[in-house]
Amino acid sequence: MARKAVAIENYPGFEEISGLELIQRFEKHLRKQKIDIERDTVTKIKKIDKNFIVFTESKHRFEAKAVIIASGADPRPLEVSGEKKFIGRGLSYCSVCDGPLFENKNVAVIGGGNAGFEAAIFLSNIAKKIYILEFNPKIGADETNQERVKKTGKVEVITNAALKQIKGNQLPERGEAERRVEMKANSERGKLHRFVNSIIYQDRKTKKNITLPLEGVFVEIGSQPATAFVKGLVNFNEKDEIKIDLRTNQTKIPGLFAAGDITEIKDKQIVIAAGEGAKAALSAYDYLQK
Ligand SMILES: Cc1cc2nc3c(=O)[nH]c(=O)nc-3n(C[C@H](O)[C@H](O)[C@H](O)COP(=O)(O)OP(=O)(O)OC[C@H]3O[C@@H](n4cnc5c(N)ncnc54)[C@H](O)[C@@H]3O)c2cc1C
Repeated sequence: MARKAVAIENYPGFEEISGLELIQRFEKHLRKQKIDIERDTVTKIKKIDKNFIVFTESKHRFEAKAVIIASGADPRPLEVSGEKKFIGRGLSYCSVCDGPLFENKNVAVIGGGNAGFEAAIFLSNIAKKIYILEFNPKIGADETNQERVKKTGKVEVITNAALKQIKGNQLPERGEAERRVEMKANSERGKLHRFVNSIIYQDRKTKKNITLPLEGVFVEIGSQPATAFVKGLVNFNEKDEIKIDLRTNQTKIPGLFAAGDITEIKDKQIVIAAGEGAKAALSAYDYLQK
């Protein structure tokens, strides 16, 4: 997921860096050690006696005494018209990362669960007006978050709303990095409306299509942790995130550790994932010593 972050502004030591460049720097640093890097997709992990066997898509098998899983999670896509076109041009999957670009703008948060409500509370310090669109007739966020949202006086909650389309100006096809630079430059010039300019949702009760003029859309409909290859081996929470001992990062299986967005930790940010990875590595080291 870090790869998709086009302009990271909250990783210590870098005022601004793209996800891709940060990963390349991590890799360059890693290659200074005697560590083999294999590019492959893990399809299964099995525990046989005291060892783990890691199977990959290209039919390789790796045997290890300890394994750290750090396969991350991808935000769930909206799958509506305009989504791909406006990523980084007014559509964001990370309110904490991109919210500051929407000062005094009207924005929508898609998803009325706790994540959506927390995003709206965060955005209420920046944006002019925030709409929360929830597909179901009832809000999923807990009462405390609902109260906090009410107190902002800036948020309108719309239930029974099926998002249909994200609309904006016709734009030439460009890479993600260029889109982000474009978005930022225009935000600074107060011209963000050049990109997303409205959304259309259907009121599921009346079946009417309604247009909301706005300039930013934040997607908060959950994420998909990449856990298929450890199904049946470890425990998961209700979000399909791997349960770990929060002190050592060990899963329920001794010698099998997990770190970052794939786990049940509360905050999903790069600096936190990096710290969790370091914790897991130290725990794996202790495990191997014993
Ligand atoms: C659009 C966007 C912008 C963001 N911006 C920021 C930001 O500005 N600042 C910030 O702090 N956070 C940001 N985040 C959040 C941040 O990217 C994550 O919290 C962080 O990357 C989590 O790190 P991770 O190592 O746990 O997982 P990831 O970075 O997701 O890395 C997991 C890796 O595992 C690989 N993988 C998955 N399955 C398999 C498999 N079966 N076999 C082998 N490899 C596999 C994936 O391809 C990926 O390379 C952003 C997220 C998104 C989506």
